[in-house]
Amino acid sequence: TKYILVSGGVVSGIGKGVIASSTGLLLRTTGLKVTAIKIDPYMNIDAGTMRPTEHGEVYVLNDGGEVDLDLGNYERYLNITLSRNNNITTGKIYKEVIEKERKGDYLGKTVQIVPHVTNAIQDWIERVAKVPVDESGEEPDVCIVELGGTVGDIESAPFVEAMRQFQFRVGYDNFALIHVSLVPDMHGEQKTKPTQTTVHSLRGLGLLPDLIACRLLIPQPLSKATKEKISMFCHVAPQQVLGIHDVSSVYHVPLLLQAQGLVQYLDKRLKLGVIGTPEVPK
Ligand code: ADP
Repeated sequence: TKYILVSGGVVSGIGKGVIASSTGLLLRTTGLKVTAIKIDPYMNIDAGTMRPTEHGEVYVLNDGGEVDLDLGNYERYLNITLSRNNNITTGKIYKEVIEKERKGDYLGKTVQIVPHVTNAIQDWIERVAKVPVDESGEEPDVCIVELGGTVGDIESAPFVEAMRQFQFRVGYDNFALIHVSLVPDMHGEQKTKPTQTTVHSLRGLGLLPDLIACRLLIPQPLSKATKEKISMFCHVAPQQVLGIHDVSSVYHVPLLLQAQGLVQYLDKRLKLGVIGTPEVPK
């Protein structure tokens, strides 16, 4: 299984879920089987007991799991059926670790965030990524893992550390990272500093972005100059910087990513061996 982690920086609610779903959709069009996991770093077991006005709409899965709406995006974009286990929360992980501790599974050991909680996170991801999600009944080729919240939060720290370790567990060819950042437009000037800062802290935590997805909250695309500046300051090639501006429908986001060579990049980076992908437009 190949894993694509989608993390976010600067602020939440900038379209990380849509970018994650769109990435999955594009890979699916090449014939790969894609599954998805959403990580919500809160202590609730699930979204069922959270106020919709605060958390947003709750999505109900076939098995009754009450989860984040991002899981609904995955089901619809990817035409798959997910289970409650495709949504990981801090609450679920801690519950599992504490139950194991009471059963005596760690007898003699001091139970800690690292390695016990971080191992539980990695085991969970590996377990769920292998579960068939479509009528083929076959194991998925790619698992999109979306990390909710923003990198640098206390809440998401154990997950960030788990994913840092996970790169080595699965190997370089099997793990890629898309980091979603905000590029604010100030009276026509696209600002790169928030992106520089978030990529800097991401690297400090041991996660190196393969793609930096820059979200603009305006209908104008990311300018060439901004792309080059981000490339320069964030130590990635210009092709690794993607612009996602405001579009009239979120169903246009896959086209936007496609036009910027997302599939070609991931194909090479993860050695996906997908054939018949269109040329990158110049
Ligand atoms: P996050 O996962 O970062 O919280 P979501 O993917 O849930 O964000 O998106 C937040 C909101 O922004 C959603 O209502 C979504 O429809 C909207 N949105 C996301 N991307 C775009 C875009 N490129 N253009 C316009 N609206 C978007």
